[in-house]
Amino acid sequence: MTRPLWAPWRLEYVGSADEQDGCIFCLALERSDEEGLVVHRGERAFVLLNKFPYASGHLMVAPTRHTGDFGELEADEVVELHRLASQGIGALAQVYEPQGYNLGWNLGRIAGAGIVDHVHLHVVPRWAGDTNVMGVVGEVRVVPQAISQLYDELLRVRASMPTTK
Ligand SMILES: [Zn+2]
Repeated sequence: MTRPLWAPWRLEYVGSADEQDGCIFCLALERSDEEGLVVHRGERAFVLLNKFPYASGHLMVAPTRHTGDFGELEADEVVELHRLASQGIGALAQVYEPQGYNLGWNLGRIAGAGIVDHVHLHVVPRWAGDTNVMGVVGEVRVVPQAISQLYDELLRVRASMPTTK
């Protein structure tokens, strides 16, 4: 049996995603790592933190190329996206020790995508009881602090990880 994650701050995100100028993924790539919350830049894909997480440690992996067409991703993009998701899980395991993960592509607005023009893979750590903790205790204002802390911790872990090609 699955239970949906309840993340009230997502409402703010869904409400504002369409009002932003430009694509948040492309903007993140243009910014500094820290401003864009980018934890890893690969050749054809990159990893960033979700400013509006479903749960603590919510990462997103996206192709560096601006494309909303999942089916048209190229082979080396697909491989790098997959590898970076795997490495992201490895880093999260060291930082947060989650009990499980949800990985998923939300394609199209009806499927829950906030950004439809630039495909991205969600990596969401899960813990037993996390919906209660995050839904009741987690408020919007605690998220930025959690994110900057997570960012620093992931960079520290990343520095100790072997790079795979
Ligand atoms: Zn883009």
